[in-house]
Amino acid sequence: MALNDAILAMQDELTAWRRDLHAHPELGFDEHRTADFVAEKLESFGVQVHRGIGKTGLVGVLREGNETQSVGLRADMDALPILEENTFDHRSRHDGKMHACGHDGHTAMLLGAAKYLAESRRFRGQVNFIFQPAEEGIGGARAMIEDGLFEQFPCDQLFAMHNAPGMPLGKFGATAGTVTAAGAFFDIHIRGTGAHGAFPHDAVDPVVVAAELVTALQSVVSRNIRPTETAVVSVTQVHAGDAYNVIPATATLAGTVRTFSLKAMEIIERRVSELVDGITRGHGAQGHVDFRTIFHPVVNDAAAATVAGDVASDLVGEDNVHRSLPPGTGSEDFSFMLEQVPGCYVLLGNSDDEHTRPVHNPGYDFNDRAAVYGASFFAQIVETVLKE
Ligand SMILES: [Zn+2]
Ligand SMILES: [Zn+2]
Repeated sequence: MALNDAILAMQDELTAWRRDLHAHPELGFDEHRTADFVAEKLESFGVQVHRGIGKTGLVGVLREGNETQSVGLRADMDALPILEENTFDHRSRHDGKMHACGHDGHTAMLLGAAKYLAESRRFRGQVNFIFQPAEEGIGGARAMIEDGLFEQFPCDQLFAMHNAPGMPLGKFGATAGTVTAAGAFFDIHIRGTGAHGAFPHDAVDPVVVAAELVTALQSVVSRNIRPTETAVVSVTQVHAGDAYNVIPATATLAGTVRTFSLKAMEIIERRVSELVDGITRGHGAQGHVDFRTIFHPVVNDAAAATVAGDVASDLVGEDNVHRSLPPGTGSEDFSFMLEQVPGCYVLLGNSDDEHTRPVHNPGYDFNDRAAVYGASFFAQIVETVLKE
Protein backbone atom coordinates (compact mmCIF):
# COMPACT_ATOMS: atom_id res chain seq x y z
CA MET A 1 0.00 0.00 0.00
CA ALA A 2 1.63 3.23 -1.18
CA LEU A 3 1.44 5.96 -3.74
CA ASN A 4 3.65 5.70 -6.81
CA ASP A 5 7.19 6.92 -5.92
CA ALA A 6 7.91 8.32 -9.37
CA ILE A 7 4.69 10.32 -9.20
CA LEU A 8 5.38 11.50 -5.65
CA ALA A 9 8.63 12.90 -7.02
CA MET A 10 6.55 14.95 -9.49
CA GLN A 11 4.64 16.83 -6.77
CA ASP A 12 6.30 20.20 -7.46
CA GLU A 13 5.91 19.84 -11.22
CA LEU A 14 2.23 18.88 -10.92
CA THR A 15 1.66 21.88 -8.64
CA ALA A 16 3.35 24.22 -11.13
CA TRP A 17 1.22 22.90 -14.04
CA ARG A 18 -1.96 23.08 -11.99
CA ARG A 19 -1.32 26.64 -10.84
CA ASP A 20 -0.46 27.77 -14.36
CA LEU A 21 -3.78 26.32 -15.58
CA HIS A 22 -5.58 27.88 -12.61
CA ALA A 23 -4.19 31.32 -13.43
CA HIS A 24 -5.38 31.03 -17.06
CA PRO A 25 -8.93 29.69 -16.95
CA GLU A 26 -10.90 29.28 -20.18
CA LEU A 27 -14.63 28.59 -20.57
CA GLY A 28 -16.09 25.61 -22.43
CA PHE A 29 -15.02 25.25 -26.10
CA ASP A 30 -12.64 28.16 -25.60
CA GLU A 31 -9.83 26.09 -24.04
CA HIS A 32 -7.25 27.07 -26.69
CA ARG A 33 -4.36 27.92 -24.39
CA THR A 34 -5.21 24.94 -22.19
CA ALA A 35 -5.27 22.56 -25.17
CA ASP A 36 -1.94 24.00 -26.39
CA PHE A 37 -0.50 23.49 -22.90
CA VAL A 38 -1.70 19.88 -22.77
CA ALA A 39 -0.57 19.09 -26.33
CA GLU A 40 2.89 20.53 -25.75
CA LYS A 41 3.36 18.53 -22.55
CA LEU A 42 2.10 15.28 -24.09
CA GLU A 43 4.38 15.69 -27.10
CA SER A 44 7.36 16.36 -24.83
CA PHE A 45 6.62 13.03 -23.07
CA GLY A 46 6.52 11.21 -26.43
CA VAL A 47 2.73 10.79 -26.45
CA GLN A 48 1.08 11.09 -29.88
CA VAL A 49 -1.41 13.99 -29.91
CA HIS A 50 -4.67 14.28 -31.87
CA ARG A 51 -6.21 17.77 -31.74
CA GLY A 52 -9.68 19.01 -32.63
CA ILE A 53 -11.75 16.09 -31.31
CA GLY A 54 -14.86 17.94 -30.07
CA LYS A 55 -13.53 21.40 -31.06
CA THR A 56 -10.92 22.19 -28.36
CA GLY A 57 -10.76 18.58 -27.11
CA LEU A 58 -7.71 16.41 -27.69
CA VAL A 59 -6.58 12.82 -27.28
CA GLY A 60 -3.09 11.57 -26.44
CA VAL A 61 -2.22 8.02 -27.51
CA LEU A 62 0.43 5.87 -25.89
CA ARG A 63 0.99 2.35 -27.15
CA GLU A 64 3.16 -0.50 -25.95
CA GLY A 65 3.31 -3.86 -27.78
CA ASN A 66 0.81 -5.12 -30.35
CA GLU A 67 -2.01 -6.09 -28.01
CA THR A 68 -5.39 -4.64 -28.96
CA GLN A 69 -6.55 -4.07 -25.38
CA SER A 70 -7.08 -0.42 -24.53
CA VAL A 71 -8.13 1.90 -21.77
CA GLY A 72 -9.36 5.50 -21.83
CA LEU A 73 -8.61 8.03 -19.09
CA ARG A 74 -10.57 11.26 -19.18
CA ALA A 75 -9.94 14.69 -17.67
CA ASP A 76 -12.01 17.84 -18.21
CA MET A 77 -10.36 21.20 -18.97
CA ASP A 78 -12.96 23.99 -18.74
CA ALA A 79 -13.44 26.72 -16.15
CA LEU A 80 -16.57 28.52 -14.93
CA PRO A 81 -17.92 32.08 -15.34
CA ILE A 82 -17.21 33.02 -11.70
CA LEU A 83 -15.26 35.97 -10.29
CA GLU A 84 -12.51 34.46 -8.13
CA GLU A 85 -12.34 35.63 -4.50
CA ASN A 86 -8.93 34.11 -3.76
CA THR A 87 -5.92 36.41 -3.53
CA PHE A 88 -3.05 33.91 -3.82
CA ASP A 89 -0.43 34.27 -6.56
CA HIS A 90 -2.07 31.80 -8.90
CA ARG A 91 -5.49 33.50 -8.79
CA SER A 92 -7.28 33.85 -12.11
CA ARG A 93 -5.73 36.40 -14.47
CA HIS A 94 -9.11 36.72 -16.20
CA ASP A 95 -11.75 38.39 -14.03
CA GLY A 96 -15.07 36.58 -14.32
CA LYS A 97 -13.50 33.24 -15.23
CA MET A 98 -12.29 30.75 -12.69
CA HIS A 99 -11.26 27.12 -12.25
CA ALA A 100 -13.84 26.66 -9.48
CA CYS A 101 -14.52 22.98 -10.20
CA GLY A 102 -10.95 21.71 -10.05
CA HIS A 103 -10.67 20.83 -13.74
CA ASP A 104 -7.21 22.45 -13.59
CA GLY A 105 -6.29 19.71 -11.10
CA HIS A 106 -7.90 16.96 -13.19
CA THR A 107 -5.89 18.06 -16.25
CA ALA A 108 -2.62 18.25 -14.30
CA MET A 109 -3.17 14.80 -12.75
CA LEU A 110 -3.81 13.15 -16.09
CA LEU A 111 -0.70 14.83 -17.54
CA GLY A 112 1.28 13.48 -14.58
CA ALA A 113 0.05 9.95 -15.26
CA ALA A 114 0.88 10.35 -18.97
CA LYS A 115 4.42 11.45 -18.17
CA TYR A 116 4.95 8.52 -15.82
CA LEU A 117 3.44 5.92 -18.18
CA ALA A 118 5.42 7.23 -21.16
CA GLU A 119 8.63 6.73 -19.17
CA SER A 120 7.90 3.47 -17.31
CA ARG A 121 5.83 1.68 -19.99
CA ARG A 122 4.78 -1.15 -17.66
CA PHE A 123 1.65 -2.04 -19.64
CA ARG A 124 0.66 -3.76 -22.89
CA GLY A 125 -1.85 -2.20 -25.26
CA GLN A 126 -3.09 1.34 -25.81
CA VAL A 127 -3.80 4.17 -23.40
CA ASN A 128 -6.04 6.99 -24.68
CA PHE A 129 -5.65 10.17 -22.65
CA ILE A 130 -8.90 12.03 -23.28
CA PHE A 131 -8.78 15.77 -22.51
CA GLN A 132 -12.36 16.92 -22.76
CA PRO A 133 -13.59 20.50 -23.24
CA ALA A 134 -16.81 22.06 -22.02
CA GLU A 135 -17.93 19.74 -19.24
CA GLU A 136 -19.98 22.43 -17.44
CA GLY A 137 -23.30 21.89 -19.18
CA ILE A 138 -22.45 22.75 -22.77
CA GLY A 139 -21.85 19.37 -24.29
CA GLY A 140 -18.10 18.69 -24.48
CA ALA A 141 -18.42 14.93 -24.02
CA ARG A 142 -21.10 14.66 -26.70
CA ALA A 143 -19.02 16.81 -29.07
CA MET A 144 -16.05 14.43 -28.72
CA ILE A 145 -18.28 11.38 -29.22
CA GLU A 146 -19.88 12.95 -32.31
CA ASP A 147 -16.39 13.56 -33.69
CA GLY A 148 -15.75 9.82 -33.54
CA LEU A 149 -13.86 9.62 -30.24
CA PHE A 150 -14.50 5.92 -29.69
CA GLU A 151 -14.25 4.94 -33.38
CA GLN A 152 -10.85 6.60 -33.72
CA PHE A 153 -9.64 5.67 -30.24
CA PRO A 154 -11.44 2.49 -29.19
CA CYS A 155 -11.47 1.89 -25.43
CA ASP A 156 -12.39 -1.36 -23.64
CA GLN A 157 -12.84 0.55 -20.40
CA LEU A 158 -12.97 4.18 -19.31
CA PHE A 159 -12.03 5.94 -16.10
CA ALA A 160 -12.44 9.54 -14.95
CA MET A 161 -11.96 11.25 -11.63
CA HIS A 162 -13.52 14.25 -9.93
CA ASN A 163 -12.21 15.90 -6.81
CA ALA A 164 -14.69 15.83 -3.93
CA PRO A 165 -14.31 18.78 -1.53
CA GLY A 166 -16.52 17.00 1.02
CA MET A 167 -14.12 14.06 1.18
CA PRO A 168 -10.83 14.21 3.12
CA LEU A 169 -7.56 14.19 1.17
CA GLY A 170 -6.27 10.65 0.75
CA LYS A 171 -9.66 9.02 0.35
CA PHE A 172 -11.31 7.66 -2.80
CA GLY A 173 -14.88 6.81 -3.79
CA ALA A 174 -15.60 4.07 -6.34
CA THR A 175 -19.23 2.98 -6.31
CA ALA A 176 -21.01 0.63 -8.72
CA GLY A 177 -24.24 1.80 -10.33
CA THR A 178 -25.72 5.30 -10.44
CA VAL A 179 -23.53 7.97 -8.84
CA THR A 180 -24.73 11.31 -10.27
CA ALA A 181 -28.08 12.64 -11.42
CA ALA A 182 -29.51 13.35 -14.83
CA GLY A 183 -30.04 17.08 -15.22
CA ALA A 184 -32.37 19.16 -17.38
CA PHE A 185 -33.12 22.85 -17.81
CA PHE A 186 -36.52 24.15 -18.88
CA ASP A 187 -38.09 27.42 -20.04
CA ILE A 188 -41.85 27.90 -20.05
CA HIS A 189 -43.25 30.73 -22.17
CA ILE A 190 -46.80 31.87 -21.41
CA ARG A 191 -48.64 34.17 -23.81
CA GLY A 192 -51.83 35.85 -22.66
CA THR A 193 -53.39 39.19 -23.57
CA GLY A 194 -52.14 42.40 -22.00
CA ALA A 195 -54.47 45.06 -20.63
CA HIS A 196 -54.76 47.96 -18.16
CA GLY A 197 -54.26 46.74 -14.61
CA ALA A 198 -57.63 48.18 -13.69
CA PHE A 199 -59.46 46.24 -16.43
CA PRO A 200 -58.60 42.57 -15.86
CA HIS A 201 -61.71 41.45 -17.76
CA ASP A 202 -59.99 42.69 -20.95
CA ALA A 203 -56.88 40.59 -20.27
CA VAL A 204 -55.77 36.97 -20.30
CA ASP A 205 -53.44 37.39 -17.34
CA PRO A 206 -50.19 35.38 -17.78
CA VAL A 207 -49.13 36.21 -14.20
CA VAL A 208 -52.04 34.24 -12.76
CA VAL A 209 -51.27 31.38 -15.15
CA ALA A 210 -47.59 31.43 -14.15
CA ALA A 211 -48.46 31.42 -10.45
CA GLU A 212 -50.77 28.47 -10.89
CA LEU A 213 -48.12 26.64 -12.87
CA VAL A 214 -45.43 27.15 -10.21
CA THR A 215 -47.76 25.54 -7.68
CA ALA A 216 -48.91 22.77 -10.04
CA LEU A 217 -45.32 21.81 -10.89
CA GLN A 218 -44.77 20.94 -7.22
CA SER A 219 -47.08 17.98 -7.72
CA VAL A 220 -44.94 16.33 -10.40
CA VAL A 221 -42.44 14.71 -8.04
CA SER A 222 -44.91 14.09 -5.22
CA ARG A 223 -47.67 12.60 -7.42
CA ASN A 224 -46.00 11.20 -10.53
CA ILE A 225 -42.64 9.79 -9.39
CA ARG A 226 -42.54 6.49 -7.56
CA PRO A 227 -42.04 7.26 -3.85
CA THR A 228 -38.96 5.03 -3.63
CA GLU A 229 -37.27 7.04 -6.40
CA THR A 230 -36.15 10.57 -5.93
CA ALA A 231 -36.24 13.61 -8.18
CA VAL A 232 -36.12 17.40 -8.03
CA VAL A 233 -38.20 19.96 -9.94
CA SER A 234 -37.16 23.51 -9.06
CA VAL A 235 -38.65 26.64 -10.64
CA THR A 236 -35.76 29.07 -10.29
CA GLN A 237 -36.88 32.02 -12.44
CA VAL A 238 -40.16 33.94 -12.76
CA HIS A 239 -40.29 36.88 -15.15
CA ALA A 240 -43.29 39.06 -16.00
CA GLY A 241 -44.34 42.66 -16.21
CA ASP A 242 -42.70 46.08 -15.83
CA ALA A 243 -45.43 48.39 -14.46
CA TYR A 244 -47.88 48.66 -11.55
CA ASN A 245 -50.89 49.25 -13.72
CA VAL A 246 -50.25 47.00 -16.70
CA ILE A 247 -51.20 43.34 -16.99
CA PRO A 248 -48.37 42.02 -19.18
CA ALA A 249 -48.96 39.96 -22.30
CA THR A 250 -46.34 37.34 -21.48
CA ALA A 251 -44.65 35.60 -18.57
CA THR A 252 -41.79 33.13 -18.47
CA LEU A 253 -40.72 30.53 -15.95
CA ALA A 254 -37.47 28.60 -15.92
CA GLY A 255 -35.87 25.97 -13.76
CA THR A 256 -34.05 22.68 -13.44
CA VAL A 257 -34.89 19.00 -13.01
CA ARG A 258 -32.71 16.25 -11.51
CA THR A 259 -33.46 12.53 -11.60
CA PHE A 260 -31.52 9.30 -11.14
CA SER A 261 -33.03 7.55 -14.14
CA LEU A 262 -33.83 8.63 -17.68
CA LYS A 263 -37.28 7.06 -17.24
CA ALA A 264 -38.06 9.47 -14.39
CA MET A 265 -36.75 12.34 -16.55
CA GLU A 266 -39.10 11.32 -19.38
CA ILE A 267 -42.07 11.21 -16.98
CA ILE A 268 -41.24 14.68 -15.68
CA GLU A 269 -40.75 16.14 -19.14
CA ARG A 270 -44.15 14.77 -20.19
CA ARG A 271 -45.92 15.97 -17.03
CA VAL A 272 -44.42 19.48 -17.24
CA SER A 273 -45.60 19.69 -20.81
CA GLU A 274 -49.11 18.42 -19.97
CA LEU A 275 -49.50 20.84 -17.06
CA VAL A 276 -48.36 23.80 -19.14
CA ASP A 277 -50.70 22.79 -21.92
CA GLY A 278 -53.71 22.17 -19.66
CA ILE A 279 -53.33 25.17 -17.38
CA THR A 280 -52.60 27.71 -20.09
CA ARG A 281 -55.47 26.37 -22.20
CA GLY A 282 -57.81 26.45 -19.19
CA HIS A 283 -57.14 30.18 -18.89
CA GLY A 284 -57.36 30.95 -22.59
CA ALA A 285 -53.60 31.56 -22.79
CA GLN A 286 -50.94 29.80 -24.84
CA GLY A 287 -48.00 27.89 -23.42
CA HIS A 288 -44.74 26.61 -24.84
CA VAL A 289 -42.15 24.48 -23.07
CA ASP A 290 -38.49 24.20 -24.03
CA PHE A 291 -37.18 21.22 -22.04
CA ARG A 292 -33.52 20.26 -22.50
CA THR A 293 -31.92 17.21 -20.89
CA ILE A 294 -28.29 18.30 -20.56
CA PHE A 295 -26.84 15.43 -18.52
CA HIS A 296 -27.64 11.75 -18.22
CA PRO A 297 -26.94 9.94 -14.92
CA VAL A 298 -23.42 8.59 -14.51
CA VAL A 299 -23.79 4.82 -14.13
CA ASN A 300 -20.60 3.01 -13.15
CA ASP A 301 -20.01 -0.50 -14.44
CA ALA A 302 -19.87 -2.93 -11.51
CA ALA A 303 -16.68 -4.71 -12.65
CA ALA A 304 -14.90 -1.42 -13.44
CA ALA A 305 -15.94 -0.01 -10.04
CA THR A 306 -14.45 -3.07 -8.35
CA VAL A 307 -11.16 -2.69 -10.24
CA ALA A 308 -11.09 1.05 -9.44
CA GLY A 309 -11.81 0.36 -5.76
CA ASP A 310 -9.08 -2.30 -5.63
CA VAL A 311 -6.53 0.05 -7.22
CA ALA A 312 -7.48 2.82 -4.77
CA SER A 313 -7.21 0.31 -1.93
CA ASP A 314 -3.66 -0.55 -3.06
CA LEU A 315 -2.77 3.15 -2.95
CA VAL A 316 -4.38 4.28 0.32
CA GLY A 317 -5.67 1.18 2.11
CA GLU A 318 -9.17 -0.28 2.13
CA ASP A 319 -10.22 1.90 5.09
CA ASN A 320 -9.85 4.96 2.87
CA VAL A 321 -11.96 3.69 -0.02
CA HIS A 322 -15.71 4.27 -0.13
CA ARG A 323 -17.28 1.58 -2.29
CA SER A 324 -20.96 2.36 -1.72
CA LEU A 325 -21.51 6.12 -1.60
CA PRO A 326 -25.11 7.29 -2.10
CA PRO A 327 -25.69 9.06 -5.44
CA GLY A 328 -25.39 12.86 -5.46
CA THR A 329 -27.74 15.32 -7.20
CA GLY A 330 -24.85 16.93 -9.08
CA SER A 331 -24.42 16.06 -12.75
CA GLU A 332 -21.49 15.19 -15.00
CA ASP A 333 -21.30 14.74 -18.75
CA PHE A 334 -18.88 11.78 -18.51
CA SER A 335 -22.27 10.01 -18.36
CA PHE A 336 -22.46 10.16 -22.16
CA MET A 337 -19.07 8.46 -22.51
CA LEU A 338 -20.11 5.74 -20.04
CA GLU A 339 -23.16 5.04 -22.20
CA GLN A 340 -20.72 4.04 -24.98
CA VAL A 341 -17.99 2.26 -22.98
CA PRO A 342 -18.17 0.61 -19.54
CA GLY A 343 -16.10 2.28 -16.86
CA CYS A 344 -16.02 4.08 -13.57
CA TYR A 345 -16.23 7.69 -12.39
CA VAL A 346 -14.07 7.90 -9.29
CA LEU A 347 -14.19 10.50 -6.52
CA LEU A 348 -10.96 11.86 -5.09
CA GLY A 349 -10.74 13.42 -1.61
CA ASN A 350 -9.80 17.12 -1.76
CA SER A 351 -10.38 18.52 1.71
CA ASP A 352 -7.94 19.46 4.47
CA ASP A 353 -7.76 22.46 6.81
CA GLU A 354 -6.97 24.87 3.95
CA HIS A 355 -9.39 23.37 1.42
CA THR A 356 -12.92 23.50 2.77
CA ARG A 357 -14.89 25.35 0.07
CA PRO A 358 -17.25 23.42 -2.21
CA VAL A 359 -16.83 23.35 -5.99
CA HIS A 360 -18.44 26.28 -7.91
CA ASN A 361 -17.67 28.55 -4.93
CA PRO A 362 -15.62 31.75 -5.60
CA GLY A 363 -13.21 30.79 -2.81
CA TYR A 364 -12.62 27.20 -3.98
CA ASP A 365 -9.15 25.93 -4.95
CA PHE A 366 -8.08 22.44 -6.03
CA ASN A 367 -5.84 20.87 -3.40
CA ASP A 368 -2.39 20.41 -4.95
CA ARG A 369 -1.66 17.63 -2.47
CA ALA A 370 -4.48 15.60 -4.10
CA ALA A 371 -2.76 15.54 -7.50
CA VAL A 372 -0.29 12.78 -6.57
CA TYR A 373 -3.19 10.61 -5.43
CA GLY A 374 -5.08 11.18 -8.67
CA ALA A 375 -2.06 10.69 -10.93
CA SER A 376 -1.04 7.53 -9.02
CA PHE A 377 -4.57 6.19 -9.46
CA PHE A 378 -4.56 6.82 -13.23
CA ALA A 379 -1.11 5.24 -13.57
CA GLN A 380 -1.98 2.16 -11.56
CA ILE A 381 -5.34 1.59 -13.23
CA VAL A 382 -3.46 1.36 -16.55
CA GLU A 383 -0.88 -1.05 -15.11
CA THR A 384 -3.75 -3.14 -13.71
CA VAL A 385 -6.17 -3.16 -16.65
CA LEU A 386 -3.44 -3.38 -19.33
CA LYS A 387 -1.27 -5.88 -17.47
CA GLU A 388 2.03 -6.82 -19.11
ZN1 LIG B 1 -18.44 21.86 -12.12
ZN1 LIG C 1 -16.35 19.50 -12.41
